[in-house]
Amino acid sequence: MNGLAEQLRRQREAGLYRRRRVVSSPQQTEMVVDGRPMLTFCSNDYLGLASHPEVIAALQQAADVYGVGSGAAHLINGHSAVHHALEEELAEFTKRPRALLYSTGYMANIGVASALLGRHDWLFEDRLNHASLVDAGALSPATVKRFQHNDPESLRRQIESCTSGRKLIATDGVFSMDGDLAPLEEYQAIARKQDAWLMVDDAHGLGVLGDTGGGSLAHFGLGIDQVPILMGTLGKGFGTFGAFVAGSEELIETLIQKSRSYVYTTAIPSAVAEATRVSLRIAQQESWRRQRLAQLIGRFRQAVEVMGLPLMPSNTPIQPLLTGSAEQALQWSRHLEEKGILVTAIRPPTVPEGQARLRITFSANHTERQLDRLLDALQSLSLEHV
Ligand SMILES: *Cc1c(COP(=O)(O)O)cnc(C)c1O
Repeated sequence: MNGLAEQLRRQREAGLYRRRRVVSSPQQTEMVVDGRPMLTFCSNDYLGLASHPEVIAALQQAADVYGVGSGAAHLINGHSAVHHALEEELAEFTKRPRALLYSTGYMANIGVASALLGRHDWLFEDRLNHASLVDAGALSPATVKRFQHNDPESLRRQIESCTSGRKLIATDGVFSMDGDLAPLEEYQAIARKQDAWLMVDDAHGLGVLGDTGGGSLAHFGLGIDQVPILMGTLGKGFGTFGAFVAGSEELIETLIQKSRSYVYTTAIPSAVAEATRVSLRIAQQESWRRQRLAQLIGRFRQAVEVMGLPLMPSNTPIQPLLTGSAEQALQWSRHLEEKGILVTAIRPPTVPEGQARLRITFSANHTERQLDRLLDALQSLSLEHV
């Protein structure tokens, strides 16, 4: 096709070419990737639930009862008793009246903006928000304003200049490529003063932060009055697949009526929802998984700081090493790969130009021995490159 080959060649030359690795093992800390055994530090399966035996058993048993495909959208005849039970449990977990299942987090973000905002409305977004929130803005008829990362003053200036219309402030709770937390207390105060809605995408906070995994909101002690719209994903900390929005009765009913990415798509398989019910319970009950993560993160940060590698400030399982150039990120990633360790290079446009990085992530299933292997490999990297 005309021009595509040239475009691809330029992308390759710029160190921005992306390729897929083929996995032939379960999602766990030691995996078979492109036919090779690898120790991995790049998954979002933070609690180590993606291959948990009880979660797998729940999926298998539910498949016997409900089959595989859900067959239709929720509003036709695809909404099963399992979906319904999971929604009730997610509502209870988030301490909100209702929760609504979406097929993916990407679709949930797009669906919220499209249901709530019209032509005369405003959407305020952190510059580093996840691509799905950015795309939610692009698809929405509202005017989109992007404020400086984690900067309440920047948000305040923008929001004060908008008078009429609905205002929605949307932010990641934990930033997916940086691992830092949004200043939600400041944002909720601004939202209250400006009569705006605050929406938090807590894809990387739920399950991980808070005593029982309540996420960024639990971390800051915020509830539905401060943050009326909470989006969570099920494919990361909870180890399965899907997403949800939790909030008031009116919010959820509005989404059911008007959210196009909810209405016009097939419901996730009931067996996946049943597996999620089990992983949600384990995530809440087994606090040792969060404590284990905290230990790993603490030890990792201490050791890497001594090595003098460019560690970004983060207390979450997302621990990026900022390389700057895409080439450097690729080089470091290859160096680790040669030692049998998989950490992916994150390059533009996923992150801003000049801010390529290695995104190292931890799982509660990583052992001390595995962390030692990573630290040894990083040590040799610091000797070669710094
Ligand atoms: C992964 C992610 C999403 C998308 O969720 P999916 O269920 O994978 O589509 C949305 N927001 C953030 C912050 C994410 O990291």
